[in-house]
Amino acid sequence: MSTEAPNTSERPLDFVRQIVAADLAAGKNGGRVKTRFPPEPNGYLHIGHAKSICLNFGIAREFGGQCTLRFDDTNPVTEDTEYVESIQEDVRWVGFEWNDLRYASDDFDQLYAWAETLINKGLAYVDSQDVETIRRQRGTATEPGVESPNRSRSVAENLDLFRRMKSGEFPDGAHVLRAKIDMADPHLILRDPVLYRIKHAHHHRTGDKWCIYPMYDFAHGQCDAIENVTHSICTLEFETHRVLYDWCIEKLEIYPSRQYEFARLNLTYTVMSKRKLLELVKNGMMSGWDDPRMPTLCGLRRRGYTPEAIRAFCGTIGVTRYNGLTDMVVLENALRDDLNKRAPRRMAVLRPLKVVITNYPEGQSDELDAINNPEDASAGTRKVPFSRELYIERDDFMEDPPKQFFRLAPGREVRLRYAYFIKCEEAVKDEAGNIVELRCTYDPATRGGDAPDGRKVKATLHWVSANHAIDAEVRLYDHLCRIEDLSEVPETEDWKNYLNPQSLDTLTGCKLEPSLKDAEPGSKCQFERLGYFCVDTESVPGKPVFNRSVTLKDTWAKIQKKGG
Ligand code: ATP
Ligand code: MG
Repeated sequence: MSTEAPNTSERPLDFVRQIVAADLAAGKNGGRVKTRFPPEPNGYLHIGHAKSICLNFGIAREFGGQCTLRFDDTNPVTEDTEYVESIQEDVRWVGFEWNDLRYASDDFDQLYAWAETLINKGLAYVDSQDVETIRRQRGTATEPGVESPNRSRSVAENLDLFRRMKSGEFPDGAHVLRAKIDMADPHLILRDPVLYRIKHAHHHRTGDKWCIYPMYDFAHGQCDAIENVTHSICTLEFETHRVLYDWCIEKLEIYPSRQYEFARLNLTYTVMSKRKLLELVKNGMMSGWDDPRMPTLCGLRRRGYTPEAIRAFCGTIGVTRYNGLTDMVVLENALRDDLNKRAPRRMAVLRPLKVVITNYPEGQSDELDAINNPEDASAGTRKVPFSRELYIERDDFMEDPPKQFFRLAPGREVRLRYAYFIKCEEAVKDEAGNIVELRCTYDPATRGGDAPDGRKVKATLHWVSANHAIDAEVRLYDHLCRIEDLSEVPETEDWKNYLNPQSLDTLTGCKLEPSLKDAEPGSKCQFERLGYFCVDTESVPGKPVFNRSVTLKDTWAKIQKKGG
């Protein structure tokens, strides 16, 4: 077997892949690689999960291994089948397929049997103290813990109590099962950790069969072992759990999976904890898990993100053991790069200002050739209609322009993209002094966008023909949070105070070129000069809704500097 890891990205292997490659080279695990992606079905997946998905499924794919999708469903209270389904949809959308689909709850019988094994070996006991007392007795890094008075219970008594816990005899919190390790171990996690707790709760899969549920530490590694996972890859906060992971494997004499930790993804200007995202959905601050402002995969999908961009982003950020904060711009650039190659260009006017071409005959129109994608010659051209009445962007006109403003102004000539030069002769105002219409002339000799006499203009504007335009709603999005790093908000303060009140700007009466009439929900294009847009899932024929996925350039940095 080849020990050369395929490295399509031509980047050096990250440290996890180096470990996998070295293990394969050394013939470990029988030359086999098996990973798993283990979400808890208590919310929708977010972009942080995509990092884990690309790592776990990516390694399986690159090294000829296997990857399991395993639902870590040991906490019945917060879990739901809605999440189980969305997670599968999202993993597939990112571009991966699992070799098998499993649930930690598939293994509840085995986990229970292993708990009895530990009791029989004198390595676990039932403690009847409350969890608060147990926590207090744990000690600190400098002080040993206090042994529970129940620590010396006999095997028979422990078995009896544990079985009665299982049969439902006791209320929640009456007892727990603890490992019997060492209350003075320098690893706090080894100071008799809780393995099972009583929870009279309905489970989304096992129903009411169980009223005791294993803790994460007594489920995760064991499921890894049952599945013969070779590399169990998790985020750094589980580093301190690794000694317990290894202890369980050793004492139960089960398959020796190994745990490796990497840094989780944190992104600027957003929130990434499922708990916080759930809060936003529950209290109606977001329209749902798929609100295009959410960093969830379904939110990003609805916003117009592509799986290609998500995967490219995950490749760019790499995998390290350094906990940092990744700039949102890196994610946005991944989308820009992808859509720049693929998205057809269209014209749309978001804040329309009427332009009347006074020397263009009434009732007439002509069609101009427009290039679909300058990055992709095979995308060809389309026709855009031109007529006497047009719309341009309100921002593209100034009555009294400052020096740096090169767009349309009274007496000035500009190019209309793919069409003609026009010159503004007059700005018509209403009684309140608002500009309601521009009266312009056009030069028929400049058809296609160049003047035969070689004269130049300083600006090219996008436009649409008024009679041919279709009306649309366009939703512009900005960062979910108004501060870079939400982790800096003190616990005493409500993090929601730092949400960006201007994260959504809904524009109605936007004017689109007619070729967009039948655009399907999910389809993407670039509105020239404005950004990349995507048809929203709420869009219906006759009432189109577009989302701005991302602007053409990163404007946030500039705005910030100006504001500061
Ligand atoms: P959250 O804190 O958002 O609720 P979680 O860690 O509880 O996330 P899980 O469903 O347990 O969510 O995560 C499944 C897998 O995804 C785990 O292996 C976890 O380590 C990984 N993961 C979760 N969040 C991130 C992140 N921000 N970056 C990288 N991996 C992540
Ligand atoms: Mg978790």
